[in-house]
Amino acid sequence: MTDPLVEQVAMDRPRQRFKLLDDTGFKEVPKKYRKFYRHWKGAGDSLAPNEVLCPVCKVVIRSSRELRVGDRVYCMPCMSRLVIGEGENGRLEATVRY
Ligand SMILES: [Zn+2]
Repeated sequence: MTDPLVEQVAMDRPRQRFKLLDDTGFKEVPKKYRKFYRHWKGAGDSLAPNEVLCPVCKVVIRSSRELRVGDRVYCMPCMSRLVIGEGENGRLEATVRY
């Protein structure tokens, strides 16, 4: 279990890939997983195409691939399984998958 992106929807077009080289300083998970998470900085912060906010613990989940509606992601800090949908103003939004 490495990248939080555990299941992708149909590959209808190629996905942009992202290099996650930096340690984001997110100390809540073991060092080798830190690049996959970061703290949400609140108003003024924004999400990249490979990032989505966990609705449970409010941590930003980062994948090495662009995220899309229908993808399933895993949030290690709170152990939630999430599915990505489309929120208000077209932004990606994760919800808990039961
Ligand atoms: Zn979480």
